[in-house]
Amino acid sequence: MNPSATPVAQSASSQSLRRSAEIRKLFRDLYGGDCRLFRAPGRINLIGEHTDYNDGFVMPAAIDLHCCVAVAPTANRAVEVYSTNFNESRSFDLDQPQPRGDWSDYVQGVAIMLEKSGYHFPGAKMLISSEVPMGSGLSSSAALEVAAGVALLDTQDTPCDRVQLAHICRRAENEFVGARCGIMDQFVSCNGRAGNLLMLDCRSLEHSFLPVPEDARLVICNTMVKHAIAGGEYNIRRAQCDEGVRLLSCVVPGLSALRDLSPEDLEQFHELLPSTIYKRCRHVVGENQRVLAAAAALEEQDLQRLGKLMAASHQSLRDDYEVSCPELDLMVELANVVEGVYGARMTGGGFGGCTVNVIASDAVPEFASKIASAYEARTGIVPEIHVSASPLNSNSRFHQRSVALLRSASNDHAQIV
Ligand code: ADP
Ligand code: MG
Repeated sequence: MNPSATPVAQSASSQSLRRSAEIRKLFRDLYGGDCRLFRAPGRINLIGEHTDYNDGFVMPAAIDLHCCVAVAPTANRAVEVYSTNFNESRSFDLDQPQPRGDWSDYVQGVAIMLEKSGYHFPGAKMLISSEVPMGSGLSSSAALEVAAGVALLDTQDTPCDRVQLAHICRRAENEFVGARCGIMDQFVSCNGRAGNLLMLDCRSLEHSFLPVPEDARLVICNTMVKHAIAGGEYNIRRAQCDEGVRLLSCVVPGLSALRDLSPEDLEQFHELLPSTIYKRCRHVVGENQRVLAAAAALEEQDLQRLGKLMAASHQSLRDDYEVSCPELDLMVELANVVEGVYGARMTGGGFGGCTVNVIASDAVPEFASKIASAYEARTGIVPEIHVSASPLNSNSRFHQRSVALLRSASNDHAQIV
């Protein structure tokens, strides 16, 4: 995906045309008949990790790896769905929702939550094909939910706005799949913009777009490892944050989430907290401040400062929140000694997956080859490296306005034609 290797504008559009033709053919072979195609992107998070479910601040960007969903309506209140990534089919009845404990719950959950929000579907045949690696911290789950949501909405008449769809998809993941994620992933998959980071207040959902500086690139390094403890640990971290709020709410007025806790109050009352809870709170409180400082640094185009904040974020996730792992630490350590790297940190929930790196554009080719060979030499694992294109390029590989909403004039980005 190195954009300097091929003309991006040309290759991005021809690749996506080829992909859409392949998906249409697969759909025809599987179900017969035509379909409409929708897509939604995965994401990286530049800074602001484990802050979304604490009502805090995050700074993600949509990436040019997408989940595509092909859809055609039926009239029997049944949904048939095939995932090319699993090579499996599933079906469910819209009138008898029932979680199955597998990947199809993400699709069924979205359908059911949309129905609970007042939408009504006749039934559908769907085909999923995603480029977003699963369980790598790039949010394949939100990409699937949002793409499935947009596809399902296409089979009925009532419009839905992007913010509402993000809420519905999160609800599907929280209440139907049973993962207690925050709003960040679904929100950025619905609202991301080419060449921009999304600065989001997860409490008010106020947001703004911050351009990636012209002479920098965002680079994703996938460690290719996933540690089995990840799922349970996520919910444990959430419970520890809730416990911190509970213990401090009697001494800090108006504390309803860690977002409301100042560093001064945390230090003043830290003896009320067991040491592990104190460390978890210190990460969240510090990380919220780092996101705000990172937004200011980006506005001033101060990439050195941004890099320092990313380093502090990684360190806090490793030592206080304890969600990193040796492979992520190594990938960050290797990046930090390559010339032209401003900052590197783990991205996503942790325990494996990817790092995000901010790098001077002209240093990217050397970075990609150096880090890939150094990581392989130390671990025996070949990593995947994804590079964003110039933010000025309208076909940026860090993706454009991501999801289209139905019946709106701007739906051509989602519907692949
Ligand atoms: P992440 O969102 O970081 O990739 P999650 O564990 O939150 O990791 O979500 C991954 C899960 O989402 C997969 O195990 C699978 O159940 C579901 N999923 C994602 N993409 C697809 C796909 N293309 N087809 C079927 N299920 C998918
Ligand atoms: Mg996920």
